[in-house]
Amino acid sequence: MTHSRTTASLKARAEEMTQSGGIPGKLFIDGKSVDAASGKLFDCINPGTGQVIAQIAEGDAEDVNRAVSAARRAFEKGQWSNMAPKDRKKVLIRLADLMEKHAEELAILETLDVGKPIGDSLAVDVPSSANCMRWYGEACDKIYDEVAPSGPNAFGTITREAIGVVAAVVPWNFPLLMACWKLGPALAAGNSVVLKPAEQSPLTALRIAELAMEAGLPEGVLNVVSGFGPTAGQALGMHMDVDCLVFTGSGEVGKLFLQYSGKSNMKRVWLECGGKTPNVVFDDCHDLKKAAEHAAIGIFYNQGEVCTAASRLIVQDTIKDQFVEEVLKVAETMQPGDPMDLDTTMGALVEEKHMERVLSYIQAGKDEGATVRCGGERVLLNQGGYYVAPTVFDGVKNSMRIAQEEIFGPVLSTITFKDAEEAVAIANDSIFGLAACLWTGDVNKAIKLSRRIRAGNMWVNCWDGGDMTMPFGGFKQSGNGRDKSLHALDKYTEIKATWIDLT
Ligand code: NAD
Repeated sequence: MTHSRTTASLKARAEEMTQSGGIPGKLFIDGKSVDAASGKLFDCINPGTGQVIAQIAEGDAEDVNRAVSAARRAFEKGQWSNMAPKDRKKVLIRLADLMEKHAEELAILETLDVGKPIGDSLAVDVPSSANCMRWYGEACDKIYDEVAPSGPNAFGTITREAIGVVAAVVPWNFPLLMACWKLGPALAAGNSVVLKPAEQSPLTALRIAELAMEAGLPEGVLNVVSGFGPTAGQALGMHMDVDCLVFTGSGEVGKLFLQYSGKSNMKRVWLECGGKTPNVVFDDCHDLKKAAEHAAIGIFYNQGEVCTAASRLIVQDTIKDQFVEEVLKVAETMQPGDPMDLDTTMGALVEEKHMERVLSYIQAGKDEGATVRCGGERVLLNQGGYYVAPTVFDGVKNSMRIAQEEIFGPVLSTITFKDAEEAVAIANDSIFGLAACLWTGDVNKAIKLSRRIRAGNMWVNCWDGGDMTMPFGGFKQSGNGRDKSLHALDKYTEIKATWIDLT
């Protein structure tokens, strides 16, 4: 399909949506849009302008109770949990189709909500989310259970069953995509879900609940409670009738969910937390230009608000100066701009508080003696939004805070190494283990070092490679369990072993 989209047409539609009540703002419980029980509302702020664009229902413990009860009722009723897989498939594929039909609307909501470039929302976030839903829809009737090799006197089956009520608590950096990474496999397996989007980014979550109903999902199977972490999020974590809690977000909050589980009903907890991706570049890399492009895109894409952001550039000393120059050239082309402009490649940070946090890390880097090669400051103040220039530090030691802590902003730390041993040691010297990149023309080196780096995702001669067929998740404090691929279904199913005595 061809589109005659322009920046002007997108801005006109965004204006119309904000003026005419086209921004979803109510909780979605038991198949209906409803107010919060308390009647409370909170501001939805456009990070590109700093302006309030909508009022959102502020769900809390009472709303979480209503949503979990609806989810449980729907699960017990069995309209979804006992639906034939081939019919469940049709609903999820219809939902994917509807997401594509409403792609422009969803992309505008995402950009207004979190400040990411509209071009990325249109080309990446929405299509990838629809693709995820379709992929799990397709999977519904293609997965078989097992018969155990139990011999002539017994019949042993190993079957997977839906786990029940799943609560999904997600972050603001890829609001729709992170939600779909949870919803796709959770719904495909027959569960009911209560989704809590981050308070910074409720809009697309609320909208896809409506689209899911239109696609034919029975009432109560998908509920969305917008609200804050310490209230709505904690209520889900502590709830006695939530069977499984899936989370993407910071390590601090991930650890809280482990505690909530231990203090309540021992619900299964699956965490996707932060990262500090080492991007290791050897001097035998065949395409240093491509490596430099990926090094810059790997940290500046989505304003650096990416859990796999290639935030540590670990480059061999023989090529360091030349390589950093190449990275600076790409950084120059990725300056922040109006997120609603189709030409913008870097937008605004999600909120003022987060921008201040990123700026405080830049100050910490300077204080610890690293050298700013570009950026290092807030820009576009006259727009009213929260923009930080792409920032490259050189002369970083891996022990510095900017190399150890997750900044979640457009800040690159350059570290040098002499040989492969030192490169691996630096790459692994982190509490995180989400992803890592290696650039080398030597295939033996690539394979041997990939085995030694402690990360759930290894990318050789690329950054952020993969598709829905590849599992995603981390080692160490980056979390447990995997999103994407058929492995994600492990989180959303219980295994039942049935032994039938035939004697
Ligand atoms: P966050 O941990 O502050 O919030 C994530 C979610 O947890 C939100 O919905 C929030 O409302 C909720 N929450 C916050 N405090 C809570 C509490 N006390 N109890 C219960 N729930 C609570 O993270 P964020 O600021 O939204 O997102 C940024 C973080 O997410 C980064 O650290 C980033 O690395 C991580 N992240 C990880 C991945 C991944 O796949 N590994 C993907 C995206 C983001």
